[in-house]
Amino acid sequence: MKVIVASFQCESNSKTKMHPDKGDFEYFTGENIFKKLVVKNALKNAGFEIVPSIYANALPTGTVTRDIYDYYERQIIATVKANPDADGIYMYVHGSMEVDGIGSGELYMLKEIRAVTGAKPIIALTMDLHANITQELGNYADIICGYKTAPHVDQAESQMRAVNALIYCLKNGVRPFTYVQKVPMLVKGDTMLTANEPLLSLEEYTRGLERKEDVFGANLFFGHCWVDAVNTSASAVASARTEQRATELAKELADKLWSTRKEYKFLIEAESPEECVRRALAGKENRIFITDSGDNTTAGAEGDRTDILKMLIAAKPEKRCCVAGITDSDTVKALLNMEPGAPVSLAGLGAGAFKCRGKILGWAKEIIGNSVTVSFGKVDAVFTEKRSAFIEEGNFIKAGLDVTEYRVVVVKLGYLFAELKPFADRELFALSSGSSCVELSRLNLKNIVRPIFPLEDFEWKA
Ligand SMILES: [Zn+2]
Repeated sequence: MKVIVASFQCESNSKTKMHPDKGDFEYFTGENIFKKLVVKNALKNAGFEIVPSIYANALPTGTVTRDIYDYYERQIIATVKANPDADGIYMYVHGSMEVDGIGSGELYMLKEIRAVTGAKPIIALTMDLHANITQELGNYADIICGYKTAPHVDQAESQMRAVNALIYCLKNGVRPFTYVQKVPMLVKGDTMLTANEPLLSLEEYTRGLERKEDVFGANLFFGHCWVDAVNTSASAVASARTEQRATELAKELADKLWSTRKEYKFLIEAESPEECVRRALAGKENRIFITDSGDNTTAGAEGDRTDILKMLIAAKPEKRCCVAGITDSDTVKALLNMEPGAPVSLAGLGAGAFKCRGKILGWAKEIIGNSVTVSFGKVDAVFTEKRSAFIEEGNFIKAGLDVTEYRVVVVKLGYLFAELKPFADRELFALSSGSSCVELSRLNLKNIVRPIFPLEDFEWKA
């Protein structure tokens, strides 16, 4: 038997004006896709012929333009057309890819694949926990498995769950059925953490369901509030041996998730940017991190806002502070060849001194451009030529900085990544404005289906 393997992922943020180009995608073809996907051995050991298509994965960014979408999607369709005898198709997608003029990129791709293959191949998907899944998707995919952890640490396991289910169904002649149940809630992603209750128990419950012989996927999806689309919401999805079983399970999971909707709270200090700056400068801890959540580049925002930087400069702190990194290619180009100590004047920020130049790392940890750091008194600001995310110590080192020299560090993230946590004696989550603002009421979403919790408080049952 023959199985096609492909991956096309981009988490869209429709609030930003950016669009990914080819350079934003980590891209492999043929056997090289297995540098990024872990499913090869399981399929090989099961005796399947494997047809690798492409792997294309971008840092979260804006909506995908039609030409970029077509460039990757048509390669997958070409693989499908070239292998009309495929018995199965495994695809690793995000689930919140929004394509200009199309809507859900995943749904469109599945429809196009089925238009080529008809009903024959079993299609199994692995999806991100923050997928906005259309109810229609269940008509085209037979097995859907999602991450069960936030922050995500089970990407590999989630690939294997979907592929093992695919292998089982193909070997045993099972035609699974997938049911997608929308849940009308969009709770702040940063408050929905699976290491804590109620999600710890809920996710454990879904794992228990997946151990049952007739269940091939039982998953909760939290949705992705930065796509303004009709399919934007949480959902519960079940793949099972029969339509009835899948439907019952999805509705049961949906009701369970809905019943917890009011329990999600920040576990760290989450305050206005002004209050975060005040607390950081007054704090006694050795090093305090502020995350500028409204301008979170890992959630697709531009990373170019200077609000918190201005507050720090205006406060004339005694402590050494660092804001990393602010997307500003003009400033990088203008200052790149300066000597350390040279005076610098930047509009809106005032007079400072050039500190150093450095490099920035891309999605795949390769160098993608330059950075410059300017000191405004005790506040250092790192400007980057391209959008970047300072998620670990290595980003500071590449920029020419030592993160341990600072008492206050501002980064463009939601929660700190695990790699930065050892450097933070205290973490402040700034409820700032921007394309990745976590306050649903401030996002001005026009296309999402109402009512939706927490914008409305109402009774609901699946
Ligand atoms: Zn996610």
